[in-house]
Amino acid sequence: MRSVIIYSGGLDSTVLLYKLASENALAEAVSINYGQRHAKELEFAFQNCKKLGVKFNLIDLSSLNSVFGNSALTNQSIEVPDGEYARGNIALTVVPNRNMIMLSIAAARAMALGCGGVAYAAHSGDHALYPDCTPEFAGALAKAIALADERKIELLRPFINMGKADIVKLGAELGVDFSGTWSCYKGGKLHCGKCSTCRERRQAFIEAGVPDPTEYAS
Ligand SMILES: [Zn+2]
Repeated sequence: MRSVIIYSGGLDSTVLLYKLASENALAEAVSINYGQRHAKELEFAFQNCKKLGVKFNLIDLSSLNSVFGNSALTNQSIEVPDGEYARGNIALTVVPNRNMIMLSIAAARAMALGCGGVAYAAHSGDHALYPDCTPEFAGALAKAIALADERKIELLRPFINMGKADIVKLGAELGVDFSGTWSCYKGGKLHCGKCSTCRERRQAFIEAGVPDPTEYAS
């Protein structure tokens, strides 16, 4: 079965890209410009697809920027908070209903291409933080996607029971060049090292015992 992957150019989805490419299970990578504050990750996404010979489909939804309101990830006038993921600063990094929008578009691509699945890299560490990363949400959406077409398209979440360190370990086994992935919310020249996703990234390499090639600004 071949699938469409939702591919951001971040660490988790790059490991998934490598995994599915190694299994010859990929039809296309769908990357979405939803008006995020920087496009660095999309450039990394393009480069990785080129390297693996995966078809890269960049979908421009940048006009959705006006939909999302006060998210630091889409609104340039709001500063990305530093520090660990916590209730106080997490709200600023929520892009309302992002996963439903992206999965819905990727499902449409899967239907258009005659693919059997849609894959995304949700992992166990996401659950507590973002409601649209929980198994309950994904289960409900999987049902809706299966009902949306005569062919039952499957929602694939192979990392759902894995932590980020497990994903780093798997990526190392698959030969992922982690320096070609982007996590930082800020989109500076280097990873900032201070925002919640930089902290999570750094910690995952330490826990996995895998050398971290990322250059952090601090
Ligand atoms: Zn950062």
